[in-house]
Amino acid sequence: MIRSLVLSLAFISLLFSCNEKPSFVDFTYPEGKTKALVLSYDDGTIQDIELTELFDKHNLIGTFNLNSKYLGVTRAWPQQNGDTIYQRYAPKDSLLIIYKNHEIAAHGALHKTFTEITTEEVLEEINTDLNILEKLTNRKIVSLAYPFGNTNDSIAELIASTGIKNGRTVEDTHNFSFPNNYMIWHPTCHDSKALDYLDSYMELNKQELSVFYVWGHSWEFGNKERWDNMVKFCEEIGNTTDIWSIGHGELTNYLIAIEKVKVDEQNIINPSDNLPIWINLSNGIKKLEPGEFISLKH
Ligand SMILES: [Zn+2]
Repeated sequence: MIRSLVLSLAFISLLFSCNEKPSFVDFTYPEGKTKALVLSYDDGTIQDIELTELFDKHNLIGTFNLNSKYLGVTRAWPQQNGDTIYQRYAPKDSLLIIYKNHEIAAHGALHKTFTEITTEEVLEEINTDLNILEKLTNRKIVSLAYPFGNTNDSIAELIASTGIKNGRTVEDTHNFSFPNNYMIWHPTCHDSKALDYLDSYMELNKQELSVFYVWGHSWEFGNKERWDNMVKFCEEIGNTTDIWSIGHGELTNYLIAIEKVKVDEQNIINPSDNLPIWINLSNGIKKLEPGEFISLKH
């Protein structure tokens, strides 16, 4: 009698555990989020201090693309209309203070136009940036914004060979989707248009992953109206709880990690040398650690 009870209990629990196996719905960002925000700012001028303070106030993370050879100097930039703009750049010894909570990325050592210089000069621009920025910060640099936004397929391939994982242009897409090639990554819009897209992104309710990608220059915020708009944008988007504010490099690394996860009919396997990954299963959101797997209902 007891034996048959034990057997039937074992059978029931086996049945129950089979039923418990979930099915795979989709990959998500951390905590099951499906929306992300990247704020990418170029040149590394001194106005970044005020902008990083604004981001910090609203728990937003920026990616700051620096011209490493100009750090700490004041440089004159002649304009087409005959005027000259003087730019002051962030001091070398303060990068880890100014950009403490933010990603530091490359923007070419001297801001040369990559489409107008030789292959060797492009590599020199990038490798100098990587050497200087990595030495000053002890961080691995994986993101880049093209100076003046200029690039092409062969430059993108060349830069990928240095270990950089993404390259941002200035060609606005006005949408929230991902590029086919992370090395030619067109942003959603310049920050002067960010408020125009804010409501539609906050209201977006899709299972598929997306990104609202904003770019700009902190030195443009000398214009009060533009600065006030940026403050408004940061206040509103900083108050949301369902958008992952993240550096471009970390976002790219996460997307690459998703590609490495093996999903078949029986299992989802996260390789042991991969990052933790979040997934949406039929029974809820789950974080899959490196080396962990989940058996699926089949
Ligand atoms: Zn620039």
